[in-house]
Amino acid sequence: MKTAIVLGAGMVGVSTALALRDRGWDVTLVDRKAPGQETSFGNAGIIQAEAVEPYAMPRTLRELFNIVTGRSNDVHYSWQELPFHARALLRYWWHSEPSRHRRVAQSWAGLIRRATDAHEPLIDRAGADNLVRRSGWRVLYRNQADLEAGMVEAERIRSTYDVPYFLRSTDETLLDEPALTDGGLGSIHWTGSWTASNPGALVEAYGALFARAGGTFVHGKAESLERSGAGWSVETEGGKVGAEAAVVCLGPWSSDLLMPFGHRFSMVRKRGYHAHYRSPLSLQAPVLDTANGYVMAPMAAGTRITTGAHVARFDAAPVYSQLERAERAAGELIDLGPRVEDKPWQGTRPCMPDMLPVIGASHYQKGLWMNFGHGHQGFTLGPVSAAMLAAMMDGDKPAIDMKPFRAERY
Ligand SMILES: Cc1cc2nc3c(=O)[nH]c(=O)nc-3n(C[C@H](O)[C@H](O)[C@H](O)COP(=O)(O)OP(=O)(O)OC[C@H]3O[C@@H](n4cnc5c(N)ncnc54)[C@H](O)[C@@H]3O)c2cc1C
Repeated sequence: MKTAIVLGAGMVGVSTALALRDRGWDVTLVDRKAPGQETSFGNAGIIQAEAVEPYAMPRTLRELFNIVTGRSNDVHYSWQELPFHARALLRYWWHSEPSRHRRVAQSWAGLIRRATDAHEPLIDRAGADNLVRRSGWRVLYRNQADLEAGMVEAERIRSTYDVPYFLRSTDETLLDEPALTDGGLGSIHWTGSWTASNPGALVEAYGALFARAGGTFVHGKAESLERSGAGWSVETEGGKVGAEAAVVCLGPWSSDLLMPFGHRFSMVRKRGYHAHYRSPLSLQAPVLDTANGYVMAPMAAGTRITTGAHVARFDAAPVYSQLERAERAAGELIDLGPRVEDKPWQGTRPCMPDMLPVIGASHYQKGLWMNFGHGHQGFTLGPVSAAMLAAMMDGDKPAIDMKPFRAERY
């Protein structure tokens, strides 16, 4: 039987471990925490069938002016931190140029189009239907220019990629979402996307499925990964574990772990924050308030507000201005209620400068594989990228061309 150690038990790692186990591999999944406790815990929980193009860096003068002057709540930069991020940001800027972005989007869309189909059997086998709604999510517009641009963009996405949506007027938005006190100028309802009421619990459920399928989860330190004979080993609570293959699925921690093995991946670390609120009325689906750059989502723990990106190193102090502005803006749309937790959650979106995750073999180390860097959509893409990687590890042909995702591009 082929053997593998999968490092990292977020959505990507748990899905990878399960995909390999389903192909008959003997798999040990290793994480310092329980499954689904980091980035995959704190996101907005949307399985984004509509996100057929990756999130490009804003490039128009208006967008850049708004970011630099703090008018936009989508992105926050600390000037002192910029030198640390400069290289990755410059590459991100370069790849975001429209014709390059279009090329990247072709590869990215190949994964996104298969994302809900890849989640479906896992939800079913995990008995996690109660955690997932298949009723889409909404983008709410508060000013005419944004609404018009949003309509043009939605129609472009529909006609190019066949992604369904409804345009809803202000009154229709209020009918769809009785918890809203203000429907703005209307909304776009992306009907093909799914949402989780507790993203961490969905990863846990996939993790429990992995264990039932005969996989082993153990707490351990990914940084202890080393060569062991022809294979790999790692220190765990249950002692040293060895396998012929090791797969790095450490989300935003992946690039640091891979440095001693010769890989220099630059990563754009986009931190996000969330807080829950005890709203008297629950939303039916997540709502993105475009004017203020945040999502509010109905979760088991209350209404969850998730922020846009704060470009920050792991050890940079938290900056809550984006969350505070989101909280004020959300209070204009809904009776938000009091905060549930004293301290907001924070986590880091693992974004690659060319917007594509790294999925494939190490070109420096035999038996070392990678599945990380899914940026804004790792919760969506975990199962589908796991299926592609597992096929490659088994020597099978994956369903799409995986060359654009290979590690050698760095
Ligand atoms: C605010 C916010 C909102 C988002 N909204 C969405 C959304 O709606 N839809 C969507 O698709 N995506 C969303 N994302 C992105 C998504 O959450 C991430 O892309 C995804 O969770 C990444 O999953 P992962 O498994 O790669 O990483 P993680 O979930 O971070 O998993 C990595 C694992 O590695 C473990 N680990 C790290 N270092 C070590 C070590 N040294 N030893 C052992 N274990 C270690 C960690 O404990 C962790 O469990 C959002 C992200 C944020 C921050």
